[in-house]
Amino acid sequence: MQKQREIDFGKRSGLKVHPVSIGAMRFPENVDESVALIRQAIDSGMIYIDTSRGYIDSETKLAKALKNGYREKVILSTKWCPWNLKVEADDDTSAECTYKRINESLKRLEVDQLDFYQLWSINNNELWVQATRKGGMLDGIIRAKKEGLVRHIGFTTHDDPTNLNKCIDEADWCEAILFTYNMLNRTYEDSIAKAHEKGIATIVMNPISGGVFAQDSPPLNNAIKNAIGSADLVETAHRWLKTNKNIDTIICGISKPSDITSTLANYNKPDFSSDEMKRLNAEFEKVSNKNSGCCVDCKYCMPCPKNIYIPGFMQAAYFSEFLKVDGKPRNIYNWQLSPNNTERSADPSECIECGRCEQRCTQKIKIIETLKTLKRKFG
Ligand code: SF4
Ligand code: SF4
Repeated sequence: MQKQREIDFGKRSGLKVHPVSIGAMRFPENVDESVALIRQAIDSGMIYIDTSRGYIDSETKLAKALKNGYREKVILSTKWCPWNLKVEADDDTSAECTYKRINESLKRLEVDQLDFYQLWSINNNELWVQATRKGGMLDGIIRAKKEGLVRHIGFTTHDDPTNLNKCIDEADWCEAILFTYNMLNRTYEDSIAKAHEKGIATIVMNPISGGVFAQDSPPLNNAIKNAIGSADLVETAHRWLKTNKNIDTIICGISKPSDITSTLANYNKPDFSSDEMKRLNAEFEKVSNKNSGCCVDCKYCMPCPKNIYIPGFMQAAYFSEFLKVDGKPRNIYNWQLSPNNTERSADPSECIECGRCEQRCTQKIKIIETLKTLKRKFG
């Protein structure tokens, strides 16, 4: 069993946490297997649990796992928003609806109180305003907090960092934020530091870039070999995160016992020196999208007359064609076309090859050919 290392979970919450936490999105299908896995993680010291009303039956599996004294050992957090999931057709961003969803999650989790309730996917200013307006979602959580149903409040985000930093300044009610952050995506590095400095708990999702570091990617393999002589991308990614003391905990998605043991083993290895961090950051800068001629999400190619969301597809191409990994690019491709995506794209096959986007692309990407390649691979 791993020795539990307790660190501050942000000064505002007054709680302590383990640097590795339980991601509840991909539990095994079998309920008994899920219960055993969740308890293995808790027994190993992982005490913060990140679930959601939107993670299918995650909440009900957790309800079973948290019997027999396990509930008291954990910091239990769930989240919801109507733009990711409408449980009922008339779900909206009102305080009443959020209060109803909180009570539903309490029933599904079979608990009397949630340690955290998070506003899920605050991804732009419009959603921030919707969620925090008078009578909006936040007011529903504050009501639940006053009634003792929720102890702490947070939010999760994929917002532009400039807007996010403004939200961090405004949100005196916020006790935790969940950010994407890893060696390949350092977008929120300053926001994480700012939140940490304000006493907000900082939680990192996608520590291994959605499984990318678990694959054989020639550019990434070369990057860690050149920087520190390592051949283990996942171990390097975990040690790189644990060296950053602005991060309180990372979310480890658990679907099998080795997800727990291998992540904790990596977290028991030493931090990198500042020279090793500098070399890793320099090597990963070289393989970043902006230095490899790939899409930098500047959006100069938009709008497309056929409503194709070009930057989204070009991001899939970065992972598929440049980094040469599977899984993540298909997910990104499918997300562009998903009905749950508020910026849902037209299919790449709609392209009429007008060439407008290529004339404007700051990276000179052959967008038309790339869309055809992606369609052949993932369409
Ligand atoms: S070439 Fe295709 S993708 Fe580009 S702007 Fe024209 S229709 Fe849209
Ligand atoms: S202009 Fe080029 S680099 Fe910028 S978002 Fe469009 S495809 Fe990406």
